Amino acid sequence: MATSPLPLLHSPVTGEICCAELAPRRVTDSWWRDRWRRVTPRDRIAWPVAELGEMRCEVCKAIERRAMAATVADPADSDGGR
Ligand SMILES: [Zn+2]
Repeated sequence: MATSPLPLLHSPVTGEICCAELAPRRVTDSWWRDRWRRVTPRDRIAWPVAELGEMRCEVCKAIERRAMAATVADPADSDGGR
């Protein structure tokens, strides 16, 4: 899969990281209240990867994790007990 990541946005208020697709829109209250802003290359460099892991959208990460779990729970694995 090609990794052409969406721009990331960051809220210093909640500490959340979200891709541009899923972050609050600039017109919403939560955008302003949580002071969302675009992650810059400098932010990425300053990001403590060792501590917090790769800088990625948390929502996308959760979705991926769920998809991975679904793959592991393969139907062929079921014992057909019912
Ligand atoms: Zn995302």
